[in-house]
Amino acid sequence: MHGGADPDRSALARLPAIGRLLAHPACRAPLAQFGRAAVLDGLRATLEAHRAALRAGHPEPVPSEERLIAETASHLERETAPGLVPVINATGIVLHTNLGRAPLAPEAAEAAHQAATTYGTLEFDLAEGTRGDRTGAVERQLCALTGAVAALAVNNGAAAILLALSALASGGDVVVSRGELVEIGGGFRIPDVIETGGARLVETGTTNRTRLADYESAITGRTRVLLRVHASNFRMSGFTQSVPLQHLAGLARRHGLHLVADLGSGSLAGDGETSLPGALAAGADLVTASGDKLLGGPQAGLIAGTRDAVGRLRRHPLLRALRLDKMSVAALETTLRLHRHAPERIPVLRMLATSPSQLADRAARLVAQLPAKAGAGIVACDGYAGGGALPGEALPSHAVTLAIVGVSSSELARRLRGGTPPVIARIAQGHVQLDMRTVAEAELPALARRIGELAS
Ligand SMILES: *Cc1c(COP(=O)(O)O)cnc(C)c1O
Repeated sequence: MHGGADPDRSALARLPAIGRLLAHPACRAPLAQFGRAAVLDGLRATLEAHRAALRAGHPEPVPSEERLIAETASHLERETAPGLVPVINATGIVLHTNLGRAPLAPEAAEAAHQAATTYGTLEFDLAEGTRGDRTGAVERQLCALTGAVAALAVNNGAAAILLALSALASGGDVVVSRGELVEIGGGFRIPDVIETGGARLVETGTTNRTRLADYESAITGRTRVLLRVHASNFRMSGFTQSVPLQHLAGLARRHGLHLVADLGSGSLAGDGETSLPGALAAGADLVTASGDKLLGGPQAGLIAGTRDAVGRLRRHPLLRALRLDKMSVAALETTLRLHRHAPERIPVLRMLATSPSQLADRAARLVAQLPAKAGAGIVACDGYAGGGALPGEALPSHAVTLAIVGVSSSELARRLRGGTPPVIARIAQGHVQLDMRTVAEAELPALARRIGELAS
């Protein structure tokens, strides 16, 4: 090299002592925000990182004291940032699993808040002064809404299936159509759940066609359950055939088996096979569904069915491990009550019911608040229910498109995610699109402010 002192060695010696940094005026703010212990650890880590880089021979200038403190502060900032923050969902996907699926109705959120902050009758009978039933009120609501004689609520949809199969099919066979062996997302696969429940999976039919005779030939002395899984997040089209639930119910009855229908996002309205009332009316012994999909409530697994089938689940030891927490019990009960008396109060139902022309009006109201530099326009677009509900069915909507000179679409989408509140947009046809279906009226001012900041 240049002879004389080793440059790295002298740089190492010139890194300041930790005491100097702690006493530096720039350190006052981080000390107040994070506390002395955390700042001390942070400074040590920052200095160590620079020492390591110098020792490894990376030619870097000795950082100033201010720079070392700023690096430490931003590291602490990242480390202590909250993991779950509110965002504006401008994707047009109403039940976006990564964004928390269903936002609760204010009444349901209030009930959860109260359950969280006070004592309550979670498992207490006021009349008798004795132990009560955790989900009794939820079950009565579910029965009233679905027409079932018995119901149960657990932690989520996956828990409902696991409990159902553990209680009804453990040690025996579960017959499922090959067309329904789906992965529901996050690596949750129906075959794995069946095996975890202690049952053996028997596949029947082919991926695109399964007939009643296929089910019939798969039934043996070991068979306990016929399982129908609602094709949630995909749709097969073309040459397909599946057996109406009613026919499966007849087959199950003739062989003394239970028919279980996992509806996933199953709705409470309507009488089709994918609704809870419809599947029960068709003869399913048990239906399972998620609380935070089309139901618009908290994360929960809903179970409804015959007294015999639900009774077996109720007596199974797994129920204790899969039970709902009190905040969810409160929010679920309130959401179910709203379904009966004021469904328009449930945000998911309201978002799904908003007409394209109402959404065009909302887009126009947003555009009116944006500066010319945002390059805003309005386009017709398609959103989706998401969460495995109504697969493949587009929800016609309107989006605000943005085009800021000199900023690419992907960079603009990244910047929208970067501020407070973060805005999650989608990119279509090369443009950033903000679908108005999932943006609440009350969020328009914040959304306009965020876009205004980026455009200025
Ligand atoms: C979503 C879904 C599940 C899982 O429900 P979670 O509440 O997410 O656990 C199971 N089955 C089907 C068909 C689904 O769509």
